[in-house]
Amino acid sequence: SINRHLLDIKGKIDVSFEFFPPNTEQMETTLWQSVERLAPLDPKFISVTYGAGASTRDRTHDVIKKIQQQTSLSTAAHLTCIDATEQDLINIAKDYWEHGVKHIVALRGDTDPNQPQQLNQPPLYASELVSLLKSVADFEISVAAYPEVHPEARSAQADLLNLKRKVDAGATRAITQFFFDVDSFLRFRDRCAAANIDAEIVPGILPVTNINTVTRFAGLTNVSVPAWLTDSFEGLDNDATSRNLLGANIAMDMVKVLSKEGVSDFHFYTLNRSELTYAICHLLGKRPQQTTASSPI
Ligand code: FAD
Repeated sequence: SINRHLLDIKGKIDVSFEFFPPNTEQMETTLWQSVERLAPLDPKFISVTYGAGASTRDRTHDVIKKIQQQTSLSTAAHLTCIDATEQDLINIAKDYWEHGVKHIVALRGDTDPNQPQQLNQPPLYASELVSLLKSVADFEISVAAYPEVHPEARSAQADLLNLKRKVDAGATRAITQFFFDVDSFLRFRDRCAAANIDAEIVPGILPVTNINTVTRFAGLTNVSVPAWLTDSFEGLDNDATSRNLLGANIAMDMVKVLSKEGVSDFHFYTLNRSELTYAICHLLGKRPQQTTASSPI
């Protein structure tokens, strides 16, 4: 059965966790509590997202530095091309490399409608950023992939070829946009294989705790929200406990099927929280590393 299979995959699963730079003191506290809670699960890496604008860029690096100082985990910095010249991107990349950040999640990014572009040239595509990074140093590079197709892509095939360009330029991992339709991920994985895309396709798992926020974001990113998902949260706006239990259960169902289908790496959009991600990882057999405490003589 699907549950029996959980015993077979124990010890064979890798996970990674995504965080975003906090912008209030309270969010900062939540972030560090979450890092502390999730770190013992020995993730392959922790990644930190990147916003447009110089101040939020510095915050990405600050969070990465602190994770490096406080844990032995490897870190990946997201980097986008929005409002940055090639020289800016080269300088940022060099700075990361010198500070020991050798894994970049290379993205084009999105222009913020509330923040007019300062540069009057269009941003680089992510495939161009991958080439640029590789010209600076031998970074490990992850890129974004879209099982349900990026909203601006001319076609599904054009989007797939774009992913292939990113991988051919040197990316070794494609982390997907979040999704709720497991079949759409599995079909996408097949299409990547058929297109000879030589990279690990890692599902991005978003444990849902707030269906309204997720639905809004899904609308902007061309992610379908199935009717059963919306329905399952109906009437629970004031019941965080039930929402968390449902969100965990839904994500657990997804990772069970995915792991049964041979997926061995999972990337979690933690939204800086640890509770659901921790429980889902536990189910997947990712448990705190046993430390054999030496007893006093
Ligand atoms: P690209 O791969 O460059 O693709 C962008 C679009 O252009 C696609 O539609 C593609 O098909 C098309 N395209 C590519 N090349 C060409 C070409 N030569 N001609 C015509 N069309 C082309 N955003 C942030 O701001 N900060 C983050 O930290 C961040 N992290 C993310 C992490 C993950 C795992 C994911 C999935 C997304 C993340 N995003 C982040 C969002 C991302 O920046 C947006 O989805 C953005 O719109 C596309 O970025 P990309 O790197 O996929 O772009």
